[in-house]
Amino acid sequence: MNSNQKRILVTGGAGYIGSHACKALAAAGYTPITYDNLVYGHPWAVKWGPLEKGDILDRTRLDEVITTYRPEAVMHFAAYAYVGESVENPGKYYRNNVTGALTLLEVMRDHRIDKFIFSSTCATYGVPKEMPISEDHSQFPINPYGNSKLMVEQILKDFHLAHGIRSISLRYFNAAGADADSEIGEKHDPETHLIPLILDAATGKRSHITIFGDDYDTPDGTCIRDYIHVTDIAAAHILALEKLGSQDGACAYNLGNGKGFSVKEVIDTARKVTECDIPTQIGLRRAGDPPRLVGDSTRIRNELGWEPVFSDLTSIIETAWKWHNNRDT
Ligand code: UDP
Repeated sequence: MNSNQKRILVTGGAGYIGSHACKALAAAGYTPITYDNLVYGHPWAVKWGPLEKGDILDRTRLDEVITTYRPEAVMHFAAYAYVGESVENPGKYYRNNVTGALTLLEVMRDHRIDKFIFSSTCATYGVPKEMPISEDHSQFPINPYGNSKLMVEQILKDFHLAHGIRSISLRYFNAAGADADSEIGEKHDPETHLIPLILDAATGKRSHITIFGDDYDTPDGTCIRDYIHVTDIAAAHILALEKLGSQDGACAYNLGNGKGFSVKEVIDTARKVTECDIPTQIGLRRAGDPPRLVGDSTRIRNELGWEPVFSDLTSIIETAWKWHNNRDT
């Protein structure tokens, strides 16, 4: 570790989005300190700084790691993120996502660390009334996962007032794609996300992809989502970190491309990219899926100068496909 570099604690740094943020941090001259319980994270994804195994609910361990590294800011990715599971087992989500964040924030307060970047989600908006969704849209989540993230956004406002912890919450739309160098990428177990499942159907690892409903009120009847490249999400975290050097408060920005693609459009694009036949089946709607989610990211573009590099679906799927074929894990 270069002792002159600024250290950033990255909870969940062994996960999909967290590991891409670690790569971006290292490229920007920071040392990412990954803090991860490795329940869903992968040790092989930690390549740009030390890995400290630990749980966000473990105050003693957090205290120890923060005392050792004295980070100047915290990026908090560690969370459970399966919407369906959150409905079945809400306690697991509130304990980990809310109590875990609260524990982390209290340790930060005790160590006088005052910069926090939080992985929030478009799921905090619930079923949108207007499209594209801006940050001022009402927030009425429809599942415990979205509720848990919104609760942390609220805690952040209170921690700013009481303890001066400044924060930026980034509300991601659908994270997708992989590092363009294929050093890291998406690998969940169980996998529930559309693009990796489609790529599994392309390689024959799965027999087909099930389309969850084709009777929505959308042009082709399938759900529309705003897919945003994970490297563009990571880049936003660096901009947010730099902004927190001068910006006080607890604020939130959307992170999306502002373009919506239906499930069928994603499958068609994947067919072109992979040159594979991708068998599909029409299944039932998945509970809790709004028909259309598209984000308005004007605010982060204007205030932080964020500009997505992988703004088209083809390049997002191309990077995912390259990773899918190269990964040996
Ligand atoms: N989806 C699908 N089949 C699958 C997985 C997902 O049709 O096997 C649909 C899902 O209903 C949603 C979109 O693909 O409309 C994106 O789902 P994903 O789970 O990737 O992300 P989410 O939108 O839930 O965050």
